[in-house]
Amino acid sequence: MDEFIKMLDKNLEYKSHEIIDDTIYIKVESNRKELKCPFCCQTSTKVHSHYKRSFQDLPIQGKKVIVILNNRKMFCTNPDCPVL
Ligand SMILES: [Zn+2]
Repeated sequence: MDEFIKMLDKNLEYKSHEIIDDTIYIKVESNRKELKCPFCCQTSTKVHSHYKRSFQDLPIQGKKVIVILNNRKMFCTNPDCPVL
C-alpha cells in the first residue's frame, strides 16, 4: 500500500486504510518536515493547523478509492512577510 501512495506523491506516507462497503479509504500524511511560505518563501517548521482533504479517487479492483490527506499548514514566522 505504501508503494501505491508513493506513486501518487513521494512525499506522502501511508498511515492506515479502511474499507467501507465498496470504498477504500486510505489515510496518508505528508512527510515534509518543513514548509515554505508561498508569499515570502521563508521555510518554517511551525505548524499552523491540520486539515484533511481527499484529493484523488481511483478504482482498485472494482472498489472506489478515496485518499485522505492529513496535511499541515505552516505558520509564517517572517516579520517582513507580505501576508502578515
Ligand atoms: Zn511568509
